[in-house]
Order: sequence, then structure tokens, then C-alpha cells
Amino acid sequence: MKYAVYSDVHSNLEALEAVLEDMENAGAEKRIFLGDIVGYGPNPNECIALIRKNTDVILAGNHDWAAVGKTDASYFNPHARTAVEWTAEQLTEESREFLESLSPYIALEEFQAAHSSPLEPDDWHYVTTLHDALCNYRHISKVCFIGHSHKPIILEYMDEQRVMSLNDSYRRLDEKRKYLINDGSVGQPRDLNPDSCYLIFDSAEGTVEYRRVPYDIRKVQRKMAECRLPHFLIERLAVGR
Ligand code: ZN
Repeated sequence: MKYAVYSDVHSNLEALEAVLEDMENAGAEKRIFLGDIVGYGPNPNECIALIRKNTDVILAGNHDWAAVGKTDASYFNPHARTAVEWTAEQLTEESREFLESLSPYIALEEFQAAHSSPLEPDDWHYVTTLHDALCNYRHISKVCFIGHSHKPIILEYMDEQRVMSLNDSYRRLDEKRKYLINDGSVGQPRDLNPDSCYLIFDSAEGTVEYRRVPYDIRKVQRKMAECRLPHFLIERLAVGR
């Protein structure tokens, strides 16, 4: 099965449309979304509707839950909090109910998936260090996909004490090892590449391929300015940080 795994759209409709089209070209058979449909960008309801229509499994992210008051937004940085408050005002009743219904973690037959991490998925831990990665070891059966940090990375475990961080854009997975794999971000990449990022997981071949997709960044920035979203959030899209 060819799975498209994507996350962190953050109300960026132009990026989402470009990525969905690229998934068609890549021959994706199933689509798995790892959370954060909303927050930061100008089109929350449109992104919710489009993802609902096109995606087989949809998880909640911390921004999705914060926008409906299901998780505390007080630890968000001021820009993120402003955007979450703006988002909450825009959501239709239908969008709100949908976001409330989502869960932040799922175990599927061929892999696990979480927004933040398989360790306490609704506490939204970041996996930023190798130590963070090792804390997740026991919670991974084989392969677990995550989002949240907006930074694509493959973490390969040799055992419970040793993990390697791989920056490969294509990787054949070792059947004898466990993996924690971050899919990057569609709507707000932070690895200094402004193109949207997602991945294709071919479960029969055991391969992971990252794909980068350009989209109309200027158009999103114009819309964000019209909505008076924070300047910092508008600027960062152009540089991917
Ligand atoms: Zn996010």
C-alpha cells in the first residue's frame, strides 16, 4: 500500500491544494493526516472541508484542540495564540464539532501515527533531541509517523539505547529496526526550505520518500495580511523557518 502521510497544514489552503495534487501524481492510495489542520493561516474552514473529503485517517493536533478549547493555549507563543484566537472566531459550528471529534493518536495494522509522539500523545511532547527519541522507544511497535515540529527527520533505533538521526529524502527501512519518522509540514515548513513537505510510505517496499511541493506563498501571505494575522507568521512562510 502506498500511503501519503502529511500534517501541519495550518489553514494554508494553497499549500494543501498543491500537496493533494502531488499525492495524485505520486500514486498515493491512502492518505493519513497527522494533525494541525488549523492555526497560523487564513483558511481554517476550507482546509477542514478539503481534508475531510480527501483523507482516510485524520488525527488532531494541538492547534486543532486549542482552537476548540480542548487543550490549553496558554503555553503557546504570542503569535500562535493570536492565530488560535482568530481561528476560534472563524470556525463554523460544523468545523468546531469535527475538530472536537478528532483523536491525537492511532495504531493501524502497518504502522502507528501521532501528532506529537506515541508517548503520552495528548501531552504534545516535542521530539527534538535523541534523548526525546529514546523515551519513545518502548511505545513504538515498528514504525510510527509523527508531525508537530515541522522538521522532516527519520529516527532509526538500533536498540533501546541507540538511535540515529537520518536526513535522507529517500530511505529503505531495515526490517529489524524501529523507526520514528517526522513528515515535515505542509503549511509552515521550518527546515529552511519554504516548499511544502510530506512523505510517501510504501509499506510493501518498506520505503519512505519525502516530497517537496512549491505553492503560491505570496497569495497566502496577502490573505494573511488581509486577516491581520501576525506579521512574523506571514514572513516566516517565505523562508521556511
Ligand atoms: Zn503544527
